[in-house]
Amino acid sequence: MTTGTFDVNKVRQDFPLLNQQVNGNPLVYLDNGATSQKPQSVIDAIVSYYTTTNSNVHRGVHTMSQQATDHYEGARTKIRRFINAGEDHEIIFTRNTTEGINLVAHSYARQNVGPGDDIIVSNMEHHSNIVPWQMVCEEKGANLKVVPIDDNGELLMDEYEKLLSPRTKLVSITHVSNALGTILPAAEIVRLAHAQGAPVLLDGAQAVPHMPVDMQALDCDFYAFSGHKLFGPTGIGVLYGKTKYLEAMPPFLGGGEMIKSVTFEKTIYNDLPYKFEGGTPDIAGAIGLGAAVDYVTNLGFDQITAHEEELLRYGTEALNAIDGVQLVGTAPHKAGILSFVMDKAHPHDIGTILDEQGIAIRTGHHCAQPVMQRFQIPATARASLAFYNTKEDIDALVKGIDRVIEVFS
Ligand SMILES: *Cc1c(COP(=O)(O)O)cnc(C)c1O
Repeated sequence: MTTGTFDVNKVRQDFPLLNQQVNGNPLVYLDNGATSQKPQSVIDAIVSYYTTTNSNVHRGVHTMSQQATDHYEGARTKIRRFINAGEDHEIIFTRNTTEGINLVAHSYARQNVGPGDDIIVSNMEHHSNIVPWQMVCEEKGANLKVVPIDDNGELLMDEYEKLLSPRTKLVSITHVSNALGTILPAAEIVRLAHAQGAPVLLDGAQAVPHMPVDMQALDCDFYAFSGHKLFGPTGIGVLYGKTKYLEAMPPFLGGGEMIKSVTFEKTIYNDLPYKFEGGTPDIAGAIGLGAAVDYVTNLGFDQITAHEEELLRYGTEALNAIDGVQLVGTAPHKAGILSFVMDKAHPHDIGTILDEQGIAIRTGHHCAQPVMQRFQIPATARASLAFYNTKEDIDALVKGIDRVIEVFS
């Protein structure tokens, strides 16, 4: 299948893992919301680093250490360009989205939130954008306020506006919902929060693999995402923060790398971004993520979003046409996520029967139990798309669901 000049079969050849059998069937990988597969160029970048350049960064005068430092810092620059941040030092390497959010909870919220203050989240957050704020609120005597959503899975903007007040000290909201696929009006969320003087963190874990994100256009104060959902390795993530906030924030982890000088009387912290990168970082991971960003950039988001929108439209129509299947998350503005429930089968059984046919989907609450409660369901089956998926993958999913119906009738 070809969309414009985008040749999905050619793209798939860059992903060695996709070309295999699972349970005697060709793999149909539809669990990209949990983690994505890696192109050969990412695998090669990691192998090459360990084969030729492995050394600690920012420490040695020797040649390899300087090369490792150049590659690590080069990856930072690639990511800065990828999200259109103003400065390289606004890109902090973390382990994942979860660590980025916890960094802000520790180094920003704990310093700036007091008794009676509010932190605002939405009803469709991942647990990693709920629990850190609950911990801060409990410790500080502050309140966690939750913006409700409608039956399509869209944020109720008027309710959001009502929750905002001078007591709002932080808004932390997802850019794209992992459970429902909803794309939130992030720039508008930021604008309204800023009007009340509150900074905004956006959880970009599900946004960066699907659409261009631009820190200048969004004007958010923090933005967190994971490398592994962006076709990069596990163990590396990114926290973007505006310089004015990062400079005022104390470190998260104390140790090597994050200091200028240490005596027992006084320690001077390092400059940004190193102040927030205590200890030896995941150097290979950062380099791998840099290669992933190159890969996605070369493919181009014009092509990626056009292809994924076509797949989403095709998949939505196909699932809607099956009796007894109900999509959960029907916002008009969605990224490639098809969450669904069936009248007769529990999501876990759906997942098991699909797996027998080599089809990988996610089942469960997707680390977003409050949104499941909102729809009064314990779990969904979720097929989540990437640009290397095809209409044939959707056809296989539909055939798999037919098999589920057969088993349970
Ligand atoms: C996956 C995900 C996270 C957590 O990412 P980790 O890599 O597990 O830290 C947070 N938010 C959203 C929306 C996600 O999809």
